[in-house]
Amino acid sequence: MNFDLNLLVRKNIAQLEPYSSARDEFSGAAKVFLDANENSLGSPLTKWYNRYPDPHQLAIKQKLSAIKGIAAEHIFLGNGSDECIDLLFRSFCEPGRDNVVICPPTYGMYEVSANINDVELRRVPLLDDFQLDLVHLENQIDAHTKIIWLCSPNNPTGNSLNRVDMETVLNNFNGIVVIDEAYINFARQKSFVQELADYPNLVVMQTFSKAWGLAGLRLGMAFASTTIIQILNRVKPPYNINQATQELALKALDELGMVNDMIKILVDMRDALIPVFESMPSVEKVYPSDANFILVKIKDARKVYEFLLTKGIVIRDRTKVKLCEDCLRITIGTEQDNTQLIDAMQEWYQMNA
Ligand SMILES: *Cc1c(COP(=O)(O)O)cnc(C)c1O
Repeated sequence: MNFDLNLLVRKNIAQLEPYSSARDEFSGAAKVFLDANENSLGSPLTKWYNRYPDPHQLAIKQKLSAIKGIAAEHIFLGNGSDECIDLLFRSFCEPGRDNVVICPPTYGMYEVSANINDVELRRVPLLDDFQLDLVHLENQIDAHTKIIWLCSPNNPTGNSLNRVDMETVLNNFNGIVVIDEAYINFARQKSFVQELADYPNLVVMQTFSKAWGLAGLRLGMAFASTTIIQILNRVKPPYNINQATQELALKALDELGMVNDMIKILVDMRDALIPVFESMPSVEKVYPSDANFILVKIKDARKVYEFLLTKGIVIRDRTKVKLCEDCLRITIGTEQDNTQLIDAMQEWYQMNA
């Protein structure tokens, strides 16, 4: 492999003089802060919120560093993974010239972000078992392919991609390989976070939105080489993670035990729910899941979806997604949620007996 980050980054980004915030130019202790045009009198909330937040989120990164076993210099924080996705496009893909590859069915934001950034999207559909089509993938790549987006465990299919396949992509592609691990905490597979030293082209994304239970905070993580992290830091808005999110995330990071308990409960409920759905008469398949949701192939999927809505239960209709025809995606809920769902399904079968 012949990986050269200097050839990948956009010229305007390489030459960029990044914004230097007040907090960048002076970050030590002082008695009087008159450098950022803040309101020194305070705010309607607590005094703390009148000040700009740490642009580098060092306190969070230090705690994450201990939890993930990876140095803080390898961590980037975004306003959700969605910001990380957009920043990767803006850092590496020249609009109207470069292209990226996705492997559908997969997370919708890669495509939306490509379109927003006017970057050509090449699709290499997953095989019937929802694994990578390496031959087709190789054929789709050219000198302008900057990023391959992999999602493992994948959304909406729920399965992990074969690790050896992902390693093959990492070993043979001279562009950036993003592995989106939003659901990794529910998986039997281990994360790629520990493999950064072996792959200079690897970006691993994780999020506080799923296992951590903090979708409302909007906090996503990207792990990569220090040079890739430095590029993302140059492009990001200076204060992309707000003070409230930083404070709450710091608190949450002290509760790893509670999060691990929730993960175990959700995984157990998932594994219990799969055979329940498999035993339902019109269910054709429940796909294996390494995530906190299951994908179910069922007769009259759209009608089932609409019936559940009348019962006040909303799931995700994926019937119009290629390779997911007749499929519904169901998030694992509380014990009560899941029971209500199963009861409603039984009612559906009584009505349609
Ligand atoms: C839910 C999800 C995310 C999370 O995005 P955030 O912006 O961090 O909430 C990222 N990737 C995938 C595949 C997801 O399903």
